[in-house]
Amino acid sequence: MPSPSRFCSSVLFQTERLNFLLDCGEGTSSSLLRNKIDPELIDSIFISHSHVDHLGGLFLLVQMMHLLQRRIPLDIYLPEEAVSGVKDFLNTCYLFPEKIVPKLNLHPVRPNFTFQDGEIKIKAYPNRHLLGNREIIDELKFPNKMQSFCFLLDIFNKKILYSGDIESSDDLTDIIQDTDLLITECFHPKLKRLIPLLIRKRVKSAILTHIPPELEEKEEEIIENAQKLGFKKLWVAYDGLSIDI
Ligand SMILES: [Zn+2]
Repeated sequence: MPSPSRFCSSVLFQTERLNFLLDCGEGTSSSLLRNKIDPELIDSIFISHSHVDHLGGLFLLVQMMHLLQRRIPLDIYLPEEAVSGVKDFLNTCYLFPEKIVPKLNLHPVRPNFTFQDGEIKIKAYPNRHLLGNREIIDELKFPNKMQSFCFLLDIFNKKILYSGDIESSDDLTDIIQDTDLLITECFHPKLKRLIPLLIRKRVKSAILTHIPPELEEKEEEIIENAQKLGFKKLWVAYDGLSIDI
């Protein structure tokens, strides 16, 4: 659901050498401009799943890069099931990949997908976020494969987990042990189960994204409640929140 106070999901990671986005929901282009991030800097985009609040900003971002005459190719990693649809929609938007700059490299993400570039490693873990669609997909014989991924980042020996969207906190149980930072949505998992899980799994810090309407404006309460339980380092994301890791 769109929010009057926050854009949709997108997280920018910057190292000395690489800059990449995790998800690219509506508002990503405006958010980059507001935060004075040169779109030229972005090397790659990783899409967790094809819901529009995680993918819908990609097309305007590509258009902006084209209008800025970006010459550097852009690598886009996205669920395998979305590759041909994204190509078709680029054509629908008159962003013909054969004609525009930058050159777009679309890479399929499948279970066991791993990306490595020097000291940065990104691994995809399938989650159950889209499985509730099975009945209608089977009934109408749609090609959708319900691909949705969490991304585990190993950057300079720091372990960072980006949840994407999940079905519940159970999707995180096996992959968050000892993470330095967990960036997780809090729309589907319930906080009263999530926070104790973070403590049990010795997660060192966490950022909550994808804030449901009933938790809007309750940031302080959420953080206080987590601290009472013993989880000390929690942020509730807002547009432009920037942290050093
Ligand atoms: Zn979703």
